[in-house]
Amino acid sequence: MRGPVRKALYWHPDNGDAICDLCPHHCRIHPSETGLCKVRNFTEDRELYSLSYGFFSSLASDPVEKKPLYHWKPGSMILSIGSIGCNMWCPFCQNWQIASGMEKLELTRIDPDDIVRIAKERNLSCVAFTYNEPMINYEFIADAAPILRKNDLDIILVTNGMICKTPLEGILPYINAVNVDLKSFSNEGYRYIGGDMETVKKNIKIFFNYGIHLELTHLVVTGFNDHESEFNDLVNWVASISPDIILHISRYFPAYKWLKPPTSIGLMNSFHDIATRKLNYVYKGNIDGAVKTFCKNCGKTILERKGYRTVLKNLTQNGNCSFCGTDNGIVI
Ligand code: SF4
Repeated sequence: MRGPVRKALYWHPDNGDAICDLCPHHCRIHPSETGLCKVRNFTEDRELYSLSYGFFSSLASDPVEKKPLYHWKPGSMILSIGSIGCNMWCPFCQNWQIASGMEKLELTRIDPDDIVRIAKERNLSCVAFTYNEPMINYEFIADAAPILRKNDLDIILVTNGMICKTPLEGILPYINAVNVDLKSFSNEGYRYIGGDMETVKKNIKIFFNYGIHLELTHLVVTGFNDHESEFNDLVNWVASISPDIILHISRYFPAYKWLKPPTSIGLMNSFHDIATRKLNYVYKGNIDGAVKTFCKNCGKTILERKGYRTVLKNLTQNGNCSFCGTDNGIVI
């Protein structure tokens, strides 16, 4: 990277150091050093900078189902972009090259107007900040979001939910849909992977109460979070907010430093059964076969996907069930 190029928001000086207030780690950063996410640098001139501002590692046109978002504009294509770095350190990270191996990556310089241009050229009406943790690239999102919205582009965040309340509130008005990765339901589990469960839970509630389209992903990792009691607690907590919150239970495959066997199909089925007792919309991810959405009222199939392709839609113009008219939280 050739940064620093943008002064960081949300930090304060303390005894010659910077305390970063963007995420719950609240890193103390000495001059010439970076925080845990490696993309916020406190320089000798005592200013905190975002090193990843405008630098992107990945850009692709994706089906929205790939994020995954199953109830938000099903069947649509979106522009996915990703930067570098992360504020957690999951040993089973599926995107570890961009989350942790930034030195070896080729990065492209992109500004918000480039994103608008690329989206329009590809006839896409939505941009997802995804692949790595977008919140640590906060300043870029904060600068780009009003420009994207002004150009009729929707905004999706795919996030681990590890951000402090005040900065989160600064971008909420611009966000249309979010997928939060709820990685564990134990404080110990979250500590192990460098996260804070209470922050993530609070932020899920903030997204929900703000009325942003919300879906959750839970990767079931062999030997990490594959205990039935923990999963029961997770499901009960989600259901206590709303049984209509969409939950994706994703199958893990060995990646990065975690080489335990893939999640067994039996466990995936058992967790799916547990979740469907309390929640109306539960999906198994990273498993072959068609994935259906059933109307919570009449039980008929209203959406069906094969791979990431939506192949059947029984929806009214406003996204309700075309058989009985029920609202299943599907945004068209
Ligand atoms: S955003 Fe980065 S530097 Fe700031 S507190 Fe979080 S991990 Fe530390």
